[in-house]
Amino acid sequence: MKDLRTIRIFLAILFFVLAVAYLAISPTVHPIARVVAKIQIIPSLIAVGMGAVLIWFAITFVFGRIYCSTICPVGTYQDVVIWLRRRFGGARRPLSFRQPDAVRFPLAVIFYICLPLGVAVVPFWLEPWSIMRNICGAIHPSAQEEIWLELGIGMATGIAAGILSGALLAVCAFFTGRSFCTEICPVGTALGLLSDYTLLHIEIDPDKCIDCMKCEEICEAHCIKVVSRYVDNSRCIRCFDCLKVCPNDAIRYQIHRNRRATPLMNKVGGEK
Ligand code: SF4
Ligand code: SF4
Ligand code: SF4
Repeated sequence: MKDLRTIRIFLAILFFVLAVAYLAISPTVHPIARVVAKIQIIPSLIAVGMGAVLIWFAITFVFGRIYCSTICPVGTYQDVVIWLRRRFGGARRPLSFRQPDAVRFPLAVIFYICLPLGVAVVPFWLEPWSIMRNICGAIHPSAQEEIWLELGIGMATGIAAGILSGALLAVCAFFTGRSFCTEICPVGTALGLLSDYTLLHIEIDPDKCIDCMKCEEICEAHCIKVVSRYVDNSRCIRCFDCLKVCPNDAIRYQIHRNRRATPLMNKVGGEK
């Protein structure tokens, strides 16, 4: 099961490199890069319609938010910052469970109203593919010039927006993990509504957990609460880091639901 994390990191890096190549070099850089651009949720919604989104909803219903851990380049961008924090951040406080912030729902409503109305300013700052396009525009401005013209903004504004997007996202990821994904991103909010009911989900085995806290302290989505044996699967972005650190194989990606943690009586009764 720990191999899942290796596979997901490999896919995330692959999709990230292809997305950056598409946005920062050229849409014709490689045919597979074009595919990566086409399967992004909001661009495919605009280009193909609800059918493309329904496919993603079906995938999410089975696997959870794997879109957020593999396909979305903004997710991987944050993962790189979080990795740097773990490696070079010194003795930073470990991560811990946080109650979800209700602001994500009004933000998502505003976003999904603005999208069909063509109010570009909200998607420009909140939609993941737009954010990545802005960041790549700061790296190689001429690759985004056409888009900026369509949006009615000049190159200087486009570059400034890219630098600002990249910096804000990096600071947010460094200090709060994947908070952008769990509290702000409207795509993540929509996927999260489904992700609570997915077939495959992350769950703690109450009989095997030894309260070491390692999973909670590494969870970049702040969605594990060891003391209650609880995982908020709506916010879990399926990074599988928790599976790797658990010393007792007590947290798993599985279909069946464990029964709630029972008091000591169960153990006395001779159960495993
Ligand atoms: S929540 Fe949004 S920004 Fe984060 S990985 Fe998912 S789609 Fe991308
Ligand atoms: S519970 Fe947290 S650490 Fe585990 S897969 Fe989900 S987001 Fe990653
Ligand atoms: S890492 Fe495993 S044993 Fe440790 S608290 Fe989490 S589920 Fe329990």
